[in-house]
Amino acid sequence: MKLLLVEDEEELASIIAKGLRKSGYAIDHAYDGEEALYLYEVNEYDLIILDVNLPKFDGLEVLNRIRNQDSFVKVLILSARSDVDDRVTGLDSGANDYLVKPFDFKELEARIRMLLRRSFIQTATVLACGDLTLHTVSKTVYYHESLLPLTKKEYAVLEYLFHNKNTVVSSEQIIEHVWDSEVDLFSNSLKYHIHSIKKKMYDSGYDVEYIKNIRGQGYILMEDDHGTAE
Ligand code: CA
Repeated sequence: MKLLLVEDEEELASIIAKGLRKSGYAIDHAYDGEEALYLYEVNEYDLIILDVNLPKFDGLEVLNRIRNQDSFVKVLILSARSDVDDRVTGLDSGANDYLVKPFDFKELEARIRMLLRRSFIQTATVLACGDLTLHTVSKTVYYHESLLPLTKKEYAVLEYLFHNKNTVVSSEQIIEHVWDSEVDLFSNSLKYHIHSIKKKMYDSGYDVEYIKNIRGQGYILMEDDHGTAE
């Protein structure tokens, strides 16, 4: 999942970005409203974390401009305790949630998870595909009872495939949603990640080809269609 963080307080921004990257999210960071709108135009984000008081355009102006063209992307506003009016205006302008500063990082993460689940119209925190289960809170994947020893990026790739289960997604789409924008990733290195995920599944006793490579189109995570894997 790729997030755009718009926050001009450098220290706070770097703490948030560091924490979220540690949890496996791809993060782009904008320091002001203008940069936020630019990044929003050229990239695809699953969620935007938007501070209200920003240089150039403030957060509410950014929100209005985004909502003029996109009612789908999830927006979480960050506001100072005193700015009650800003929060109300923000929600009225189409923010999906808000958090008052200072906040606990765990709470920020919980709200992000909730908004991302909502944007994929999923209410469960555990997603299943045949005998594979993906736990979005602990960010772990199990095959039967065995924990797959995935890296954060491998988990993120698999989570994106789970959210798009039974749908072919292109390499570009996966890269767009899993890696930060400044990373120049080629589809070959995505191929390497997918290969590594599959190998870890095989090593855990997996004998069903859940992830299929559709030549020229991309990848698909599919439920086993010929009975249970024994
Ligand atoms: Ca600010």
